Amino acid sequence: MWKVAVIEGDGIGPEVISATVNVINAINDIYKLPIELEFLEAGLGAYKKYGTNLPKQSMDKLFDSDCALKGPTTSLEGFGTELGVPVKIRKMFNLYANIRPFKPLPRSSSLAKLDVLIVRENTEGSYSGLEYRVSDQVAFGIRITTRSAAEKIFKVAFSMAEKRKKKVTLAHKANVLKATDGLYKEVFLNEARRHPEVLAEDAHVDALAHWLILKPEFYDVIVTENLYGDIISDEAAALVGGLGLAASANLGDKYAMFEPVHGSAPDIAGKGISNPVAAMLSFKMMLEWMGYPEVAWALESAINQTLTEGEKLTPDMGGSGKTEDIEKKVISNLQKNLHNIG
Ligand code: ATP
Repeated sequence: MWKVAVIEGDGIGPEVISATVNVINAINDIYKLPIELEFLEAGLGAYKKYGTNLPKQSMDKLFDSDCALKGPTTSLEGFGTELGVPVKIRKMFNLYANIRPFKPLPRSSSLAKLDVLIVRENTEGSYSGLEYRVSDQVAFGIRITTRSAAEKIFKVAFSMAEKRKKKVTLAHKANVLKATDGLYKEVFLNEARRHPEVLAEDAHVDALAHWLILKPEFYDVIVTENLYGDIISDEAAALVGGLGLAASANLGDKYAMFEPVHGSAPDIAGKGISNPVAAMLSFKMMLEWMGYPEVAWALESAINQTLTEGEKLTPDMGGSGKTEDIEKKVISNLQKNLHNIG
């Protein structure tokens, strides 16, 4: 039995996760998968109730699970506030690899020739959490790059490239950040020598941001540190149709957490118009990780059919439909496809 911890989160989180949970229940009915869901509280809602965004009972449930499906959680801004929920969970389970696939979906704009996998280092770099406010006038942060974390993330990137178009591009800024990104580049080149069948290139992250728009077909796997990966991912999401379609996986050696790339979108929360596709595609990545590639494929097909048919899509995809319209259509496509195969 797979125990999946489910965090609904804040803002549009409960809407997109509820739609995804209904899809999971439909999949469980159809395919009889041994998946059990365990709900837990985390995020701003939990903070208001318990004084922390990840209370002990939620941490216990996480430790008791095999993996997590997480909706977006709102993080408090301001120096001295606690770490955000995803950062805490990534640290708890050492989820060092953040995997974000971006490829054209049926609703993608004509710009989208992009078919890339962004492999983002998840534990250090500019997001190490070591920031200091020295005085009212001065603050500084420490940026950490370790050889061991770099080796691990490059191994993931090259092994994923081997299953794709066999090309890896390192995005860095070693010309300015000579110690930290310099070490990153050195380790990357070492790993590249172990994979002669994979074309390894490196690029300054600012130039890569530019070329990603002008020559998207140039890229296959892009590997990079935490902050750059965060920013390039949103750019890639925009190229393939918006944040409502972008899924991600946070992988460690023994645990994984799957979550949409988007945030809690307070501007549209509570209106029932958020796009649940990113959350559903995150569950699809979970199915692949669990070893159910056929079921993952069936879910992806049902989503693609829903987008192609284009009835009652949410406003971010140019429609005037609701979150639950997409959920119902995906479930009915899943059932219809099974019927057709049967
Ligand atoms: P956070 O700080 O939590 O990341 P944010 O406002 O900076 O939040 P997002 O929540 O990702 O960033 O939202 C960015 C924009 O994308 C918003 O205009 C939002 O409405 C839109 N958006 C994000 N996710 C979705 C979605 N699932 N469906 C429709 N629109 C979305």
